[in-house]
Amino acid sequence: MRALVTGGAGFIGSHLCDELLKAGADVICLDNLITGSEENIAHNLGNSSFKFIKHDVCRPVNIEEKLDYVLHLASPASPKDYLKYPIETMNANSVGTLNMLELARKKGASFLLASTSEIYGDPLVSPQTEEYLGNVSCTGPRSVYDEAKRFAEALTSSYVREFSLDAKIARFFNTYGPRMRKNDGRAIPNFIWQAMKNDPLTVYGNGSQTRSFCYISDLVNGLIKLMKIKVDSPVNLGNPCEISILELARIVNRLFNKNENNVSYQPLPQDDPKQRRPEISKAKALLDWEPKIGFDEGIKNTVEWFRRVYG
Ligand code: NAD
Ligand code: UDP
Repeated sequence: MRALVTGGAGFIGSHLCDELLKAGADVICLDNLITGSEENIAHNLGNSSFKFIKHDVCRPVNIEEKLDYVLHLASPASPKDYLKYPIETMNANSVGTLNMLELARKKGASFLLASTSEIYGDPLVSPQTEEYLGNVSCTGPRSVYDEAKRFAEALTSSYVREFSLDAKIARFFNTYGPRMRKNDGRAIPNFIWQAMKNDPLTVYGNGSQTRSFCYISDLVNGLIKLMKIKVDSPVNLGNPCEISILELARIVNRLFNKNENNVSYQPLPQDDPKQRRPEISKAKALLDWEPKIGFDEGIKNTVEWFRRVYG
């Protein structure tokens, strides 16, 4: 089995490469390193089953090897990153997705798109099932990501209809764990890094907005199960355990033995979703999958990794 992983030098992609290699696959990692890093894949560079190609998915690519899977994760993913790289983000998910779909079609490979809970926008229903159509601004600042992912889903679905391509759409909810960049701007790495520096934790708005955080190993297990089955409608992958951002700040403060009110309130970014929680019965039924790592364990592992690497 050989899999091409775009975005394979990023946070999620690099863990996916590791698990595929462990499962005995040959892995080709395609990444232009715009938000990823060679450090994330350094431990695999000497492995003859692993190949890294520095390449932008927006340019067509010629892969000589036979491919069984094209797993398309390449895209800036944190709000800070996609606001810094708006056009690159729209391109990676539109032109990049088109190129990777074409590659999968030519190679007779299965395709998997890394989509996101952001396609639900600021959801008016909770939890979010795959049937919910979302509440998304098509012109606001976050639209460069949300609408690009919605386009990527539409394009993938049209390849299924037009060419009977075996393609999966995975909607990841907020995922966290080792290899997140300390400055990627997301809540978990921001809070951990701020606590490590003895800074107050920056809570945007009043912190009542919620997220549901999934530990990286759980997401990757779900992805590996999903890539192997046939399903042509989107599947949510996430951990339904929902917490407010203020509660998250309190948990991180407690882990660092700080007063739980060690918080600095900052303005809420425009269009920041008020709630997010995955409904995962589809993944449970299709994949016999559900998250195994509780938040207490996952956040401790992540803090340990941050201390080891950045401490
Ligand atoms: P990341 O920034 O760590 O990884 C993205 C990788 O894609 C990086 O290595 C980057 O260099 C690469 N990349 C970006 N544009 C590229 C291009 N044009 N050509 C080649 N490589 C390119 O982010 P992540 O958190 O690992 O996210 C991976 C995927 O999962 C993304 O598609 C993201 O939208 C999706 N996702 C992530 C989350 C999350 O919570 N982390 C949630 C929902 C969806
Ligand atoms: N957030 C925050 N402080 C930070 C970073 C993020 O309060 O330093 C909030 C952010 O406004 C959002 C939530 O935490 O409501 C999750 O943000 P993140 O960037 O991690 O993910 P996303 O918004 O993409 O779900």
